Order: sequence, then C-alpha cells, then structure tokens
Amino acid sequence: MSSSVERATTHWPTSSSSRLLVDGELRAGGAGEFPTVNPATEEILGFAADADARDLDAAIGAARRAFDETGWARDPAFRARCLLQLRDALTRNVGWLRTITVAEAGAPSLLTRGPQLEGPIADLGFFADLAESYPWITDLGRAEPMGVPTRRWVHREPAGVVAAITPWNFPHQINFAKLGPALAAGNTVVLKPAPDTPWCAAAVGELIVRETDLPPGVVNIVTSSDDARGAQLVADPRVDLVSFTGSTATGRAVMASAAASLKKVFLELGGKSAYVVLDDADLRAACAMAAFAVCTHAGQGCAITTRLLVPRARYDEAAAATAAAMSGIRVGDPADPGTICGPLISARQRDRVEGYLRLALEEGGRFAYGGGRVPGMERGFFVQPTLVTGLGNESRVAREEIFGPVLVILPHDGDDDAVRIANDSPYGLSGAVHGTDLERARSVASRIRTGTLSVNGGVWYSADIPFGGYKQSGIGREMGVAGFEEYLETKVIAESA
Ligand code: ADP
Repeated sequence: MSSSVERATTHWPTSSSSRLLVDGELRAGGAGEFPTVNPATEEILGFAADADARDLDAAIGAARRAFDETGWARDPAFRARCLLQLRDALTRNVGWLRTITVAEAGAPSLLTRGPQLEGPIADLGFFADLAESYPWITDLGRAEPMGVPTRRWVHREPAGVVAAITPWNFPHQINFAKLGPALAAGNTVVLKPAPDTPWCAAAVGELIVRETDLPPGVVNIVTSSDDARGAQLVADPRVDLVSFTGSTATGRAVMASAAASLKKVFLELGGKSAYVVLDDADLRAACAMAAFAVCTHAGQGCAITTRLLVPRARYDEAAAATAAAMSGIRVGDPADPGTICGPLISARQRDRVEGYLRLALEEGGRFAYGGGRVPGMERGFFVQPTLVTGLGNESRVAREEIFGPVLVILPHDGDDDAVRIANDSPYGLSGAVHGTDLERARSVASRIRTGTLSVNGGVWYSADIPFGGYKQSGIGREMGVAGFEEYLETKVIAESA
C-alpha cells in the first residue's frame, strides 16, 4: 500500500479516549476509562472505555436481537457487501491504524505491511467471497428410509451469537480472523479484545459506525481492563459459540466454563514449535532463519518456532551460527522500518520472560547469545534475543511457552529422533523442517503432529489456509474454509415425497 492512499485522520490518538461499540452506538464505558501504554516508551498513549458488566450485558443483548430479529443471518449477499465495505474502510484508514498498531502493540512497522495489519484487512475479502460462493444447501436427493419416500437437504446455518475473545500479540490478525468468517457465516459478534490493545479494536468499531452499513448489534466491541468481562461473556447463556485465542491456561478455563451451557468452543492456544534441521540441510542458512523467526515481534507469536533441533555432531557449529545471526538482529523502535524485534507488550510480560531466563540458568543451561535486557535501552519493555544451550527437551524452558525472543537449541540423532523430540511436547501448533533431500524432509514433516508445518521456508499463513493446533494448542481451525465452517451449524430437512 503506498502512503499516498493512506488517509490522515484527526481522530484519537490525538484526542485521548476510545469508545465501546454497543448496539450500533459508540459510547463511554460504565467502569470509566483505563490507560493504554506504548510498550516501546512506557508512556501512556491515551485511554480506552472500560466496560462494566452492564455494558457487556447490553452488547450480548444487542447481538442476540440482531441475530434473532433481523434478516442478517439469512442474507449472504448483504453480509458480503458489508464485509467489503469494512475492508475498504480499513484500507482507507490504514495509516491511522498503522500508527495505533505500532504504538500500542509494539508491532514492528514492517510487519504491519503483512500479518500485523494489511494482510488481515485484505483477508476480509476472502470471507466476503465465501459468503456468496459457499454451498449453503446440499440436496441429498430422494431415499426411502424405513420405507418412507423422502427428499433430504443439508442446510448450513450460522451458529448464532459469537463471543470473540482475543489477545494482544497480533490484534488485527486475530480480530479479523474471527470477525471475517463469523460475519460471513451470518453470526453476530461480541468482540472482547485484550486489555493491552484496546485501541486496535476500538478503531475498528469507529470505522464500522462511520463507514459501513453493518446493522446495529451485528458487531459489538467491548474493551475492558478486566478479564472478568471475558469470563462473563463465556458464561452468558445467550452466547452460542466462543471463539478464543490466548494462553492454554485461560483456554482451559474458557472450555470449563462453556461446558456449563454446552457452548461450542473454538480455541487457538499456545505452542512450543520445533524447527528441525536435518543432517543434509544447509546448516548456517537454516540456523540464520531460525534466529530471525524467533526474533520476529520479539517472539510474541504462538506459532513461532522456539525449539531448534540440530544434528548432535554439529551442535556447537549450529549454536555458533545461530548466535552470530542473532547478534546481527538489532532490537529497536518498532516504528523504525528496519526493526523486526521490538518490545514485549508489558512489564508483566517482561517479568515472565525474565523469569524463564533465570530458570534456564537454574536448569543448567547457558546463554550462547543474549540472556537479559538490552544495554543502553532504559525505557521500554525490551529484552535481548536469546539462545539457550545445554538443556534437554525435558527442561521446563524447552517445554513451556515463553512468548519472548528465546530459542532453545537441542541435539537430535537423526530423522526419527528429531520427529520424536518435536512430538514430545504438550503442544502441537506449528513447526519447520529443513533438508536438501525433499522426500526426506516431507517424510519428517508428515510425522510431526502439528496443525501447520513449513518445509524449507514455505509460508503457511494465508486467508485460505486453516490454522490451529493439535493437543494443548487448541481445538478447531481458524481461517480457510475449515475456519469458516467452525461458525456454522448443520441442519437437515427431510420432506415427505
Ligand atoms: P495473557 O496471559 O497474555 O493475558 P490470556 O490468555 O489470559 O493471555 O488472555 C487472552 C484474552 O482472554 C484476553 O482478552 C483476556 O482478557 C481474556 N481472558 C482472560 N481470562 C479470561 C477468562 N477466565 N475467561 C474468558 N476470557 C478471559
């Protein structure tokens, strides 16, 4: 996108407060306001509306009415038009959104050209197309079950009111990967974004009101400083489906709570993905890519590869090559177009990462690179890219999700052993395999139990690609046709013929 088409705006953050979107209206929060902080500077950017329980109650009620009492759920052409309007509104305002995203999420500006902003905006078009092209009704033809002549149809219908609960790391990608398919499928939505990135979501609410025909109640955006609003949303009996992205611990709580009213749940959770270098790979090139991957957005991505598996005989060489590549990655201001490793989101997240750095030493590991804060960077929640050596796959540092630029390097004894170690994890989200013999690399990829895998640098992120995890990385898939179908019910009509 060229900057000439980016529209300047006089809206916040130059004024100071964002608002809730409830039943088609932008309004203040019943609990007042809460600050949103720039993680690169620690400065308060401004304030977001803080929803109380009554605001959320009103949002759920509005979503319920819009689903039950309007034609939204039965008009795919209108839905497609509204989604394209939203995509175009976001595109016209991409400069404003970029400013907010870099400042609030600490997202490197470079990544806003792709998965942090422009990619997910464009992906709304995929779901608009799907609303119109999807085979909503399948004719199964005539049959005579139990001797009764019958015509049968399978209808796919929207699930109803969707609770979309999202984290802070890729706010637009995750918000739009829920809003796009949920709306295309005919649902209405209450979106509750993370307390750390309220403006990224509230900006979308403003654009919906100002620049689209989305009817009142179809999308509600409820920012809050309090995780209790997420819990309230999951427990409310008027909600039909919960689409949650976040930590595995919170995902478990969401699933347990949803069980009380037997809601459908989609969960996209944590990861500890393996980056497997086979013994015929270009070791240096593969290690350099692994270093780059773990530094991207300071490692704050659930699908980032954080365990580097290398041939045992070349462990030291691989560690040296990875450390050298890390030393070439400058941690810096996310607004700088050359930055890929910006700050962590918050002091709390930095404490968590630093806790794992201490644990790495306690468990007997060493730092081949990094291991602490960045010298000379006093402000902002920055930590150094870090390579941990000397630990096994049984260590906590190799098993638990850290969510920082921390890579642990582990030795393997050949393809079977690499597969065993890659699969020896509570998680199963993503991974990578590098090798010169493509058949071998494919065979290893086919045996790793994760939702996505990259072979020799292939990219699995795209609107038409289903994303999600095995094991404790989640339930269901996001994006692609499979992701769209998560938001559908199946109904059969059988007619006497
Ligand atoms: P983090 O540990 O980074 O804060 P979480 O997985 O706890 O990540 O949060 C992801 C999202 O889930 C956020 O929007 C948060 O407010 C929300 N959330 C936190 N606790 C709950 C809960 N018990 N039920 C529903 N949503 C919750």
